Amino acid sequence: MSAPQDERCPCGTGEVYSSCCGRFHGTFAQSQELTAPTAEALMRSRYTAFALASHGTFAQAEQYLLATWTPETRPRELALDAPGQGPDEALDWVRLDIEQVEGGGPFHDDGSVTFTAHFRTPGGPASSGSAPSSSSGLGSGSTATAMSTEALTLPAPHP
Ligand SMILES: [Zn+2]
Repeated sequence: MSAPQDERCPCGTGEVYSSCCGRFHGTFAQSQELTAPTAEALMRSRYTAFALASHGTFAQAEQYLLATWTPETRPRELALDAPGQGPDEALDWVRLDIEQVEGGGPFHDDGSVTFTAHFRTPGGPASSGSAPSSSSGLGSGSTATAMSTEALTLPAPHP
């Protein structure tokens, strides 16, 4: 799969990646700076990082996720599913629903986002090691939904 710049952003805003979460990912890849202005934007860009990582199209996804993790719950390191690690490894990220946002606006320095992330596990009976990137069909695997509230620490606002 090529770079997703011109494809619709996985986070579901309807924007193309390069004018949605791709802006924040791109800045981070160049300068390690976090530029998502709101908690929701940050959450979306994290979801997108997960989604792209499962297709191997955002090389710095792990660093991005660690950098945006709230310090209390941040793991020391992160082993994301890489493509080709076997049919049971890569999740297929289907959709992100933002349920509720508290704080986390441009003038807050932290916030909390309640969201539901929908994903499919490709470990269904028909799975035989084929590429997990054929995401259009609903045929194989099972659908799982993870609901979570995530506290986010936003990047320091520029004075
Ligand atoms: Zn996005």
